[in-house]
Amino acid sequence: MFKVTTFANKEVAVFGLGRSGIAAALALKAGGAIVLAWDDNEATREKAFAAGIDICDLHDKDFDTISALVMSPGVPIYGENKHWCAELADAKEVPIIGDIELFAREINQIEASKRPKIIGITGTNGKSTTTALIAHILAEAGRDVRIGGNIGVGVLGLEAPKLGTYYVLELSSYQLDLTKSLKCDVAILLNISPDHLQRHGTMSRYIAAKRNIFANQTSSDFAIIGVDDEYGEAICTRLMAGGSRNIIPISAGQFVNCGIVAIGNNLWDNQNGRAKQVADLKLARALPGAHNGQNTAAAFAAAKALGLSVEVIVQGIYSFGGLKHRLQEVAVIDDVRFFNDSKATNANATAQALAAFNDVHWIVGGEAKTDGIEPLRPLFGKVKKAYLIGKSATKFAKTFGAEVPFEICKTIKKAVQKSFDEAKQSGLPEVIILSPACASFDQYSDFEARGDDFISQVLALQKQV
Ligand code: ADP
Repeated sequence: MFKVTTFANKEVAVFGLGRSGIAAALALKAGGAIVLAWDDNEATREKAFAAGIDICDLHDKDFDTISALVMSPGVPIYGENKHWCAELADAKEVPIIGDIELFAREINQIEASKRPKIIGITGTNGKSTTTALIAHILAEAGRDVRIGGNIGVGVLGLEAPKLGTYYVLELSSYQLDLTKSLKCDVAILLNISPDHLQRHGTMSRYIAAKRNIFANQTSSDFAIIGVDDEYGEAICTRLMAGGSRNIIPISAGQFVNCGIVAIGNNLWDNQNGRAKQVADLKLARALPGAHNGQNTAAAFAAAKALGLSVEVIVQGIYSFGGLKHRLQEVAVIDDVRFFNDSKATNANATAQALAAFNDVHWIVGGEAKTDGIEPLRPLFGKVKKAYLIGKSATKFAKTFGAEVPFEICKTIKKAVQKSFDEAKQSGLPEVIILSPACASFDQYSDFEARGDDFISQVLALQKQV
């Protein structure tokens, strides 16, 4: 665990005692700060107390003596939903920061030549996959790697650095919004599309938070930017005009000058202006689809910027096992491939899964988002048959109408059995994907429980066959 020493003997308020809040409070306490911790939820406060954190009701606290408020990243700090604790801090001009900022200040205290390498990854989609892929490539190359931030362990729960450590950090827009001092040796912005606007208030604030990943970079650092959306393209153009760091554009679909691109099944390195094919993406079994082409291009660019050889990087890409619940291949039974894409909780994420295959047996449904599956209509031609689960069944049946054959199965168990019975009748290789385009709360505690149920139903089927 980290010791945060930059607030020794000072009062620091910590609001929000989830995973990262507890780690922050403990790291501050270990470094000698006077921690005043609070959460609106009583059970959460009790858990934090049991973990060794002193609880203090911040409603009653005079913020005049407080040096900083460490805020949990999901809590609104602007606009009409602004949290009471942010109001109290703002009234006394107390800086509101997050755990990544505490981490950054600690790292910046280390002599420059001895600092660990920091690789930061952000974007609307693909953060976890790209973070895990980069960590895998570095670990396979024998580097000392710690992975965390918005994935797995909160950043202050990671082990402190040794000489030669690499921190690979997934950074959400919420976290970046609370960070000022982080300097990434390699910073990646994968893509931007409207998301989380209820927290950031406006699109421009959301973009500003994402752009923060490039703050403090100097001439030896690298900015890797996805240029397939208008926002990424504009940020790339602006950073290039500003100079001061190395910029590598990446794309999944178009050749870009001096960049890394994934087109079809090929990964191209066009960094020196002479495009060279460096990997066959068909061999990257755990990274199907054009969206993963973007993630792979970013990971390749990052690993190359860190000095790894092309051969070592490509081996790492091929041997990557993938992340659970993200277009995860679960089993192949009688030539039928089963994919668990339970993390696809909205139409945009499901679009990637449908785009990656043809003639899909699609298990879909749950607690529908506002537009339901209407945005997926252009991809309906990719679907052989839909198997409807959860609360959204009637609504989605209406959307399909006569355009897509469908059946209401209600449960994943029934959908798995039914889709398998029908898929294997063709005698050809077939694909079954759970990609719900919905939240899971109507039937499960979260998307992980839903994906785990799918996996166990598929494995049960495998035993029967
Ligand atoms: P995040 O951590 O940003 O939520 P993940 O890597 O967990 O992203 O992927 C979540 C879902 O988003 C995946 O199941 C996939 O459907 C979709 N996705 C992944 N990478 C991309 C990408 N580069 N562009 C668009 N969608 C993506």
